[in-house]
Amino acid sequence: MNDDTTAPHGFDDLLAANAAFAQDFTLGGFDGIAHRGVAVVTCMDSRIDPLGMIGLSPGDAKIFRNPGGRVTAAALEALVLGVHLLNVQRILVVPHTRCAMANHTEVELRALIGQKAGSDASWQGFHVVADQDAALRADVAAIRSHPLIPDTVDVGGFLYDVDSGLLEHRA
Ligand SMILES: [Zn+2]
Repeated sequence: MNDDTTAPHGFDDLLAANAAFAQDFTLGGFDGIAHRGVAVVTCMDSRIDPLGMIGLSPGDAKIFRNPGGRVTAAALEALVLGVHLLNVQRILVVPHTRCAMANHTEVELRALIGQKAGSDASWQGFHVVADQDAALRADVAAIRSHPLIPDTVDVGGFLYDVDSGLLEHRA
Protein backbone atom coordinates (compact mmCIF):
# COMPACT_ATOMS: atom_id res chain seq x y z
CA MET A 1 0.00 0.00 0.00
CA ASN A 2 1.08 3.53 -0.69
CA ASP A 3 -0.05 6.78 0.71
CA ASP A 4 -0.31 9.89 -1.42
CA THR A 5 3.36 10.79 -1.07
CA THR A 6 5.14 7.45 -1.50
CA ALA A 7 5.46 5.93 -4.95
CA PRO A 8 5.98 2.18 -5.38
CA HIS A 9 9.70 1.27 -5.53
CA GLY A 10 9.34 0.27 -9.16
CA PHE A 11 9.36 3.98 -10.04
CA ASP A 12 12.57 4.85 -8.20
CA ASP A 13 14.78 5.15 -11.27
CA LEU A 14 12.26 7.31 -13.04
CA LEU A 15 11.74 9.64 -10.10
CA ALA A 16 15.50 10.02 -9.67
CA ALA A 17 15.70 10.96 -13.34
CA ASN A 18 12.84 13.39 -12.84
CA ALA A 19 14.64 15.13 -10.01
CA ALA A 20 17.63 15.62 -12.31
CA PHE A 21 15.33 16.79 -15.11
CA ALA A 22 13.75 19.40 -12.86
CA GLN A 23 17.18 20.77 -11.91
CA ASP A 24 17.44 22.69 -15.16
CA PHE A 25 13.79 22.87 -16.07
CA THR A 26 13.00 25.78 -18.34
CA LEU A 27 9.34 25.25 -19.25
CA GLY A 28 7.89 26.59 -15.99
CA GLY A 29 5.06 29.08 -16.52
CA PHE A 30 4.73 28.03 -20.14
CA ASP A 31 1.30 28.64 -21.65
CA GLY A 32 0.78 25.14 -23.10
CA ILE A 33 -0.29 26.17 -26.59
CA ALA A 34 1.25 24.61 -29.70
CA HIS A 35 3.83 27.24 -30.57
CA ARG A 36 4.52 25.82 -34.03
CA GLY A 37 0.80 25.32 -34.66
CA VAL A 38 1.17 21.55 -34.98
CA ALA A 39 -0.81 18.56 -33.73
CA VAL A 40 0.30 14.98 -34.32
CA VAL A 41 -1.87 11.89 -34.02
CA THR A 42 0.39 8.85 -33.93
CA CYS A 43 0.89 5.37 -32.54
CA MET A 44 1.98 4.56 -29.00
CA ASP A 45 4.94 2.67 -30.50
CA SER A 46 8.16 3.33 -28.57
CA ARG A 47 10.14 3.65 -31.81
CA ILE A 48 8.38 6.92 -32.59
CA ASP A 49 9.65 10.29 -31.36
CA PRO A 50 6.75 12.48 -32.52
CA LEU A 51 8.53 15.77 -31.81
CA GLY A 52 12.01 14.79 -32.91
CA MET A 53 10.91 13.29 -36.20
CA ILE A 54 9.64 16.66 -37.41
CA GLY A 55 12.27 18.82 -35.76
CA LEU A 56 10.11 20.10 -32.93
CA SER A 57 10.66 20.53 -29.20
CA PRO A 58 8.40 20.53 -26.14
CA GLY A 59 6.03 23.48 -26.43
CA ASP A 60 5.76 23.27 -30.21
CA ALA A 61 2.99 20.71 -30.72
CA LYS A 62 0.06 18.81 -29.27
CA ILE A 63 0.59 15.04 -29.38
CA PHE A 64 -2.16 12.44 -29.29
CA ARG A 65 -1.19 8.78 -29.24
CA ASN A 66 -3.02 5.48 -29.26
CA PRO A 67 -2.44 1.98 -30.67
CA GLY A 68 -2.15 2.43 -34.43
CA GLY A 69 -2.32 6.22 -34.40
CA ARG A 70 -6.01 6.19 -35.24
CA VAL A 71 -8.34 9.17 -35.43
CA THR A 72 -10.79 7.98 -32.79
CA ALA A 73 -13.54 10.01 -31.12
CA ALA A 74 -11.05 10.88 -28.38
CA ALA A 75 -8.51 12.01 -30.99
CA LEU A 76 -11.10 14.25 -32.65
CA GLU A 77 -11.96 15.71 -29.25
CA ALA A 78 -8.29 16.54 -28.73
CA LEU A 79 -7.99 18.05 -32.21
CA VAL A 80 -11.06 20.26 -31.76
CA LEU A 81 -9.60 21.56 -28.50
CA GLY A 82 -6.23 21.98 -30.17
CA VAL A 83 -7.58 23.94 -33.10
CA HIS A 84 -9.76 26.31 -31.11
CA LEU A 85 -7.88 26.76 -27.85
CA LEU A 86 -4.28 25.72 -28.42
CA ASN A 87 -3.15 27.31 -31.70
CA VAL A 88 -3.23 24.15 -33.84
CA GLN A 89 -3.24 25.00 -37.57
CA ARG A 90 -1.58 21.88 -39.01
CA ILE A 91 -2.53 18.29 -38.21
CA LEU A 92 -0.41 15.27 -39.08
CA VAL A 93 -1.85 11.76 -38.82
CA VAL A 94 1.07 9.35 -38.59
CA PRO A 95 0.67 5.59 -38.62
CA HIS A 96 3.89 3.62 -39.11
CA THR A 97 5.48 0.62 -40.75
CA ARG A 98 5.65 -2.68 -38.84
CA CYS A 99 2.77 -1.62 -36.56
CA ALA A 100 1.33 -4.45 -34.46
CA MET A 101 -2.15 -3.03 -34.98
CA ALA A 102 -1.80 -3.45 -38.74
CA ASN A 103 -0.05 -6.82 -38.68
CA HIS A 104 -2.60 -8.80 -36.66
CA THR A 105 -6.30 -9.47 -36.88
CA GLU A 106 -8.42 -8.79 -33.82
CA VAL A 107 -8.84 -12.56 -33.37
CA GLU A 108 -5.05 -13.00 -33.40
CA LEU A 109 -4.50 -10.20 -30.90
CA ARG A 110 -7.16 -11.58 -28.56
CA ALA A 111 -5.53 -15.01 -28.72
CA LEU A 112 -2.05 -13.54 -28.15
CA ILE A 113 -3.13 -11.35 -25.24
CA GLY A 114 -5.19 -14.16 -23.75
CA GLN A 115 -2.15 -16.42 -23.85
CA LYS A 116 0.11 -13.79 -22.24
CA ALA A 117 -2.48 -12.83 -19.63
CA GLY A 118 -3.36 -16.43 -18.85
CA SER A 119 -7.04 -15.53 -18.98
CA ASP A 120 -9.78 -14.95 -21.50
CA ALA A 121 -9.29 -11.84 -23.64
CA SER A 122 -12.07 -12.48 -26.12
CA TRP A 123 -14.07 -9.57 -24.69
CA GLN A 124 -11.29 -7.01 -25.19
CA GLY A 125 -11.66 -4.87 -28.28
CA PHE A 126 -8.59 -4.05 -30.36
CA HIS A 127 -8.91 -1.50 -33.13
CA VAL A 128 -6.84 -3.38 -35.66
CA VAL A 129 -6.13 -1.94 -39.10
CA ALA A 130 -6.79 -4.23 -42.08
CA ASP A 131 -5.56 -1.74 -44.70
CA GLN A 132 -3.28 1.02 -43.42
CA ASP A 133 -3.69 3.30 -46.44
CA ALA A 134 -7.46 2.99 -46.45
CA ALA A 135 -7.56 3.64 -42.70
CA LEU A 136 -5.31 6.66 -43.09
CA ARG A 137 -7.47 8.11 -45.86
CA ALA A 138 -10.58 7.61 -43.72
CA ASP A 139 -8.89 9.16 -40.67
CA VAL A 140 -7.73 12.22 -42.61
CA ALA A 141 -11.20 12.56 -44.12
CA ALA A 142 -12.77 12.37 -40.66
CA ILE A 143 -10.70 15.37 -39.59
CA ARG A 144 -11.26 17.36 -42.79
CA SER A 145 -15.01 16.84 -42.65
CA HIS A 146 -15.40 17.49 -38.94
CA PRO A 147 -17.88 20.36 -38.47
CA LEU A 148 -15.73 21.96 -35.78
CA ILE A 149 -12.44 21.82 -37.69
CA PRO A 150 -12.29 24.63 -40.26
CA ASP A 151 -10.94 24.27 -43.81
CA THR A 152 -8.13 26.65 -42.93
CA VAL A 153 -6.47 23.84 -40.95
CA ASP A 154 -3.99 21.80 -43.01
CA VAL A 155 -4.46 18.06 -42.54
CA GLY A 156 -2.09 15.42 -43.88
CA GLY A 157 -1.64 11.68 -43.53
CA PHE A 158 1.94 10.38 -43.45
CA LEU A 159 3.37 6.90 -43.02
CA TYR A 160 6.41 6.83 -40.72
CA ASP A 161 9.07 4.28 -41.61
CA VAL A 162 10.47 3.00 -38.31
CA ASP A 163 13.58 1.72 -40.10
CA SER A 164 14.54 4.85 -42.05
CA GLY A 165 12.96 7.55 -39.87
CA LEU A 166 11.31 9.06 -42.94
CA LEU A 167 7.74 10.28 -43.32
CA GLU A 168 5.95 9.61 -46.59
CA HIS A 169 2.88 11.61 -47.57
CA ARG A 170 0.04 9.14 -48.16
CA ALA A 171 -3.24 11.00 -47.68
ZN1 LIG B 1 2.00 1.01 -33.95
